[in-house]
Amino acid sequence: MSEVSSLVYLNGAYLPLSQAKVPVTDRGFLFGDGVYEVIPCYSGRPFRLNHHLRRLQGSLHAIGMEMPLSDGVWQEIIERLTEQSSGEDQSVYLQITRGDNGRRSPGIPVGLTPTIFAMTQPVTYPDPATAAAGVAAITRDDYRWRRCNIKAITLLANILLRNEALKQGAADAILIRDGNAVEGATSNLFVINRGVILTPPGEQSTVAGGSTRDLVLELAHAHGLPIREVVIPKELLRNADEIWLTSSSREVAAVTTLDGRPVGSGTPGPVHKQIRAYYADYKTRLQQGVVE
Ligand code: PMP
Repeated sequence: MSEVSSLVYLNGAYLPLSQAKVPVTDRGFLFGDGVYEVIPCYSGRPFRLNHHLRRLQGSLHAIGMEMPLSDGVWQEIIERLTEQSSGEDQSVYLQITRGDNGRRSPGIPVGLTPTIFAMTQPVTYPDPATAAAGVAAITRDDYRWRRCNIKAITLLANILLRNEALKQGAADAILIRDGNAVEGATSNLFVINRGVILTPPGEQSTVAGGSTRDLVLELAHAHGLPIREVVIPKELLRNADEIWLTSSSREVAAVTTLDGRPVGSGTPGPVHKQIRAYYADYKTRLQQGVVE
């Protein structure tokens, strides 16, 4: 398993991981009262930093908090943390909780100093053979709360749903809400139907967003692949020609069995092959500094 880098950022200081401590009355610890953002860094370059910071700001705003640091300070923190790695792809984690007022009381205190934490760890990618073979997925009722567009640190539902998938030998659980497939427990969802790539609308409060999802949308547009953001009824999912799950660590994974039944031909499909090639090409150009 990949290790957190030894130096982390906590409330203005850079500390060894073992010395970074927060009080047990921190509202993040007691209530999960906080938000987070994960920023992939490819070869030391933060991927779409501005986009991630705006999303973090959006999550904070949605829970009645302000962005506590300027973009320049975030950038410094990320640079300082990622320079510890020897160039491998990293996943930078930023977390802000509402802070600590020394007691457990649900009422939101005024004027609290937020707890600001950042760390980084190497991204663990699936081995190429697994990626080429495709993965299994299961479907589950989406029992998460209704405001999944806020990146709340309270991820218990996602953890339990993903764990159910893992116990069944699947990579993730595709979540069904009100009869529609919305996303994976830890990934975003794409469905190929008659040559058209479909993904649930990003602005829906059921979708947590995703940098890989955004990139797939961009790549499809740039290369003229037909793609639409539409509601995906579960029947469409069952009859899909291809299903993909995306996340920074999975990249674009082809789902070849759903609830034990083959998806399409039961092997990664032709559109998946195309998007994988565009994705790989994009990452190479990103590492060369040709695109950002
Ligand atoms: N949706 C959920 C619920 C997630 O937890 C994640 C990340 N694990 C994603 C989507 C994918 O996001 P990204 O592409 O930014 O890794």
